[in-house]
Amino acid sequence: MFISQKARGISPSPTLAVDAKAKRMKKEGHDIIGFGAGEPDFDTPEYIKSAAKSAINQGFTKYTPVGGTKELKTAIVSYIKAAIDISYMPNQITTSNGAKQCLFNALSCLIDPGDKVLIPSPYWVSYPEMVKLCGGTPVFVPTAENDGFMLKADNLKKYIDNKTKILIINSPNNPCGSVYSKQELEKIAQLAVEHNIFVISDEIYDKLIYDRTEHVSIVSYKNMIERSLLINGLSKTFAMTGWRIGFAAGPQQLIEAMENFQSHSTSNPNSIAQRASVEALTNLAKDETIGIMVNEFSNRRKYMVERINNIEHLSCRLPMGAFYVFMNISGTFNKQCNGRTIKSSSDFAEILLERHKVAVVPGIAFGSDDYVRLSYATSMENISKGLDRIEEFVKTLK
Ligand code: PMP
Ligand code: GLU
Repeated sequence: MFISQKARGISPSPTLAVDAKAKRMKKEGHDIIGFGAGEPDFDTPEYIKSAAKSAINQGFTKYTPVGGTKELKTAIVSYIKAAIDISYMPNQITTSNGAKQCLFNALSCLIDPGDKVLIPSPYWVSYPEMVKLCGGTPVFVPTAENDGFMLKADNLKKYIDNKTKILIINSPNNPCGSVYSKQELEKIAQLAVEHNIFVISDEIYDKLIYDRTEHVSIVSYKNMIERSLLINGLSKTFAMTGWRIGFAAGPQQLIEAMENFQSHSTSNPNSIAQRASVEALTNLAKDETIGIMVNEFSNRRKYMVERINNIEHLSCRLPMGAFYVFMNISGTFNKQCNGRTIKSSSDFAEILLERHKVAVVPGIAFGSDDYVRLSYATSMENISKGLDRIEEFVKTLK
């Protein structure tokens, strides 16, 4: 087949793959507990669905401006103002088919061949692949479990050179659940200004934070507005992963370039989903369902962490945001299960799925082989059952 070199170098999204495999096995009749999901298990709130139905009934079913309607951009402006007290103009906002497309558009419009992009590791699976697809070079900056998996400005400094163009910050973080502190973000922002680095701040989990932790945006620091792009979307906060609406806010020139780029690939995001998103964003403060969801995530998180830390050879930190636990499995390395030795996160995940019917995402997908990621976006019953199975599995290791 005539597959390009570029396409041959790309691996499928491992997070989507694990989830798809677990769902497939379930359909085939296997009793699977899936901890792979990167999406809320809650339904989209009713008032949002109603807005979509009205949009259809009113015939709002045609092309819209490429970057989204004025109405949607205005709702996003208000959302950002309320969240982090920054006033963007509507022409500094664009929308796409999910935050994923906003990220891809942005990187496509920022990267020239050979540019380096700093990515704190562990990282969300798609960042390095996107950077490579755009002709850039991902440079991984390690973070440590002891530091709460938070990027340290002092460490970041060592990875900057004259090819460094972009830094990607993701707080609250996938897969670690860390939420960056004000102090560290300020230092990182200073470095970005000093070294003329453009910052992409992926804040898709901004509303999924626990225990009164505060979400701070790196965009809000001095001289950052002109050198940063804020990425967010409706997928997680409003349980709208399938609707595919993400947005970006940043310098008008970049936003315009991203819209030109999108005009030749997908055009506007779905018109009906745009209408539903306006309803979601403007009713956020009144929406009780989000608080209920966050509270439920928080309870599951605490339960999961407590259970894990009581299982020999396993441990994890208490995540402060998103809906993932990054579980340290290095204590199981070189132990055997039925003649098979666990040497990596992929071995651990594979044996766990095959023998105990629990799906987790191997940490290697996020750049860290000592861990696996468990999503708690599944019922308490599933979490309890799944952890029973994990406990059983680890007990059998010799
Ligand atoms: N960023 C991060 C860190 C994510 O985990 C996800 C999950 N899908 C996305 C971006 C993209 O979200 P979406 O495209 O559904 O808006
Ligand atoms: N971001 C989610 C995850 O990390 C959804 C899957 C994906 O888009 O890769 O699982």
